[in-house]
Amino acid sequence: MGILVPEEYGGAEADYLSYALAIEELARVDAGTAVTVSVHSMICSAILKLGTKEQKEHWLPLLASRDVLAGFALTESDAGSDAVALRATARPSSGGYTLNGRKQWCSTGSYAGVIMGMFRTGGPGARGVSAFLFEPNLPGVTIERVTEKLGIHTSNTCDLAFDDVRVGREALLGEEGAGFGNAMTALTAGRIGIAAQAIGILAACLDESVKFAKERIAFGKPIGAFEGVSFKIAQMAMDLDAARMLTYRAAALADAGEPFAIPASKAKLFASTAARKHAGEALQIHGGYGYTTEFAVERHYRDAKITEIYEGTSEIQQIIIARSLLGRLE
Ligand SMILES: Cc1cc2nc3c(=O)[nH]c(=O)nc-3n(C[C@H](O)[C@H](O)[C@H](O)COP(=O)(O)OP(=O)(O)OC[C@H]3O[C@@H](n4cnc5c(N)ncnc54)[C@H](O)[C@@H]3O)c2cc1C
Repeated sequence: MGILVPEEYGGAEADYLSYALAIEELARVDAGTAVTVSVHSMICSAILKLGTKEQKEHWLPLLASRDVLAGFALTESDAGSDAVALRATARPSSGGYTLNGRKQWCSTGSYAGVIMGMFRTGGPGARGVSAFLFEPNLPGVTIERVTEKLGIHTSNTCDLAFDDVRVGREALLGEEGAGFGNAMTALTAGRIGIAAQAIGILAACLDESVKFAKERIAFGKPIGAFEGVSFKIAQMAMDLDAARMLTYRAAALADAGEPFAIPASKAKLFASTAARKHAGEALQIHGGYGYTTEFAVERHYRDAKITEIYEGTSEIQQIIIARSLLGRLE
C-alpha cells in the first residue's frame, strides 16, 4: 500500500513505472482491488507533495503499513465532470473549520481511515476550494448510501454526508484556496493508475481468450483456427501493447519530473477504450459461456466500463488533449 511512499515513512519508495506495473498485475486478477490501491496511492502522493511535515509523519506510515486506507471525495450529485461546481463548504470556526455538505461515490469511503476531501472555503470558482485530510469517523460524518454497481464489486463506493463536522486547521492539505488545483494534480497522476487498471483487465481478457480459443472446438477445429476469432485476438494483443507503451511513457515522464498530464490523459483514454472494446470481444469469443458467471470474461466486461468514466471521462480526456493543441477556443 506504500508503493509510492518513501522508505523513511515505511513505504517501498518505488517509482511511477513500478506503480503502474503493480496496478496492472492487480487488475489482471481483480480490478476492484486495483482501484482501491490506485486511489490510496494517489492520496499518498498528494500528501507527499502537499503535506506539512506533521501530516507526512502522521499519515504516511499509517497508509504505507496497510493499517489505514485512503479515500478521495471530490464528486457531488451536481458536480462530476464539472467538479468546480462543488458546493460542500468548510467555514472557518474556532481553531479550524466546520464541514457541511454531501459527497457522492467516494471509492473506499466506508472503510477509509483518512479522506482527502475538497470543500468550498471561499466564493464560487476553482479558487474558492480547499483540500482537507480528515478521519471519516468524526462526529457528523455519515455514510448515507453504499452504491450498487455494474462492476468492480470488490471496490466500495459510498456517499458521505457532512453535518457540522469540526476539523482543526491542521486538516488543511496545501494552501487554502488551492484545493481544486491540488485535486486536479492528484487526478493527473491517478490517471496513470486507471490506465494501468484498464491494461490489467485487457491483459486478462487476452489470456482468457487465447486459452479458450485453443480449447473450444467447433466444426471439428479449435475456434482459434477461424480468422473471425484469431483476428480479434491479434487486435487485442496489439492494443494491449499500445496501451502499455502510452502508459509506461506517462509513468516514465512522471518519474523524470517532466510534464506528464497530456501523456497521462492519452494513456487513460486509449487504455480504457481498448479495455472496454476488447472485453466485449473476449466475451464474444467465449460465446454463451462468456455470458455466464462461470467464466471470468463476464466480470472483466462489467469491470472494464468504469475505466472510461472515473478520474475524468473519455470525453474529458479528449477535451484536455484537444485543448493542449488548440487552446481554449470558446
Ligand atoms: C464506481 C465509481 C467510483 C467513483 N469514485 C470516485 C471517488 O473515489 N472520488 C470522487 O470524487 N469521485 C468518484 N467517482 C465520480 C466520477 O469521477 C464521476 O462519475 C465522473 O467524473 C463523471 O462525472 P458524472 O458522473 O457526474 O458525469 P457528468 O459530468 O454528469 O457527465 C455525463 C456525461 O456527459 C459528458 N460530459 C460532461 N461534460 C462534458 C463536456 N464538457 N463535453 C463533452 N462531454 C461532457 C461526460 O463525459 C459523460 O459522458 C466515482 C464514480 C463511480 C461510478
